[in-house]
Amino acid sequence: MNVPLLDLKAQYRVIKSEVMAAIEAVCDEQGFVLGPRLTAFEEATAQYIGSRYAIGCASGSDALLLSLMAMGVKAGDEVITIPFTFFATAGAVSRLGAKPVFVDIQPDTFNIDPALIERAITPRTKAIIPVHLFGQCADMAAINEIAKRKKLYVIEDACQAIGASQGNRRAGVLGDTGCFSFFPSKNLGGFGDGGLITTNDKALADSMAMLRVHGSQVRYLHEAIGFNSRLDALQAAVLQVKLKYLDQWTEGRRRNAERYRQLFAQTKHAARVTLPPTAPGNFHVYNQFTVRVPKRDELRTFLKEKGVGTEVYYPLPMHLQNCYRDLGHQKGSFPLSERAAEEVMSLPIYPELTEAQQSYVVEMIAEFYKRS
Ligand SMILES: *Cc1c(COP(=O)(O)O)cnc(C)c1O
Repeated sequence: MNVPLLDLKAQYRVIKSEVMAAIEAVCDEQGFVLGPRLTAFEEATAQYIGSRYAIGCASGSDALLLSLMAMGVKAGDEVITIPFTFFATAGAVSRLGAKPVFVDIQPDTFNIDPALIERAITPRTKAIIPVHLFGQCADMAAINEIAKRKKLYVIEDACQAIGASQGNRRAGVLGDTGCFSFFPSKNLGGFGDGGLITTNDKALADSMAMLRVHGSQVRYLHEAIGFNSRLDALQAAVLQVKLKYLDQWTEGRRRNAERYRQLFAQTKHAARVTLPPTAPGNFHVYNQFTVRVPKRDELRTFLKEKGVGTEVYYPLPMHLQNCYRDLGHQKGSFPLSERAAEEVMSLPIYPELTEAQQSYVVEMIAEFYKRS
């Protein structure tokens, strides 16, 4: 049996005619940059997330960069985040000449450990970027309490968590800004790159909307040094169609996660697999279903031979990356992130996955451990 990690074609088949009609409409209009299509999508997304403002931009990476720029983060400043994340989280900080200051993760949720934040704060600290890794929110109450007391901004890296919530609020309104990515493999994926920032703060919203067009409000008059980062009308039109299906797809991911839990619970030889827990109050949207396993690399090779796609998000924490040599960290600096990087593996979880495919995945994992 073949079980790919992700099958975007299965989703596309269902929405093809609707998406193609939207693309054709944009082509007929010949309006590709900013304009009413983008505004409509920004309004729909703001409403979905529950934010006052939403600003489309070119990628999730740029959403982080625009947030930091609007907050005035500059060379010499420090921004706290986790080393166990996608590069963009730390990269956005470094691109401004600021320094990413890493704090280790909680071993169960893979999210930032709030208990370790305070000792990482210095007079140069400007912001904290919690990452809602794999689709589950970081402990925002604890993070916001520290940020408020220390007068720091909070930027949610919600690139993997559109539709996730904590308490009764969605990711994107749990900090000062929320950063989203529409990279095709995210829960709401475009037909290329795209991103968006949410906020309830008018000053930040105005600033980010200006920075994405070279710091200009009135054409050819520049108030700040911005850059070019827009979500184009074609992407906005595609995403507008897909947004209607998002909750339904999220339910599919959550159903599949439950099914894995049942299947693993029934399978004796797969008992060495540690499943991802959901913290109290969190609504997990499972951009990834990430487990911890012994003999990970051997298991992955075995699964690949059996037709099961897996991936390691992420194999090398940021503090051990060559590009961050200058920060002076070593192996052992962030042991929980390092251990996660060695043990994690993400299983197929996309909404269209069938029960038979999931049973097969669990069976093959059991077969591997029975043999070894
Ligand atoms: C995908 C992702 C990003 C960056 O998004 P792009 O749209 O690819 O630039 C940032 N942070 C995290 C955690 C992500 O998963």
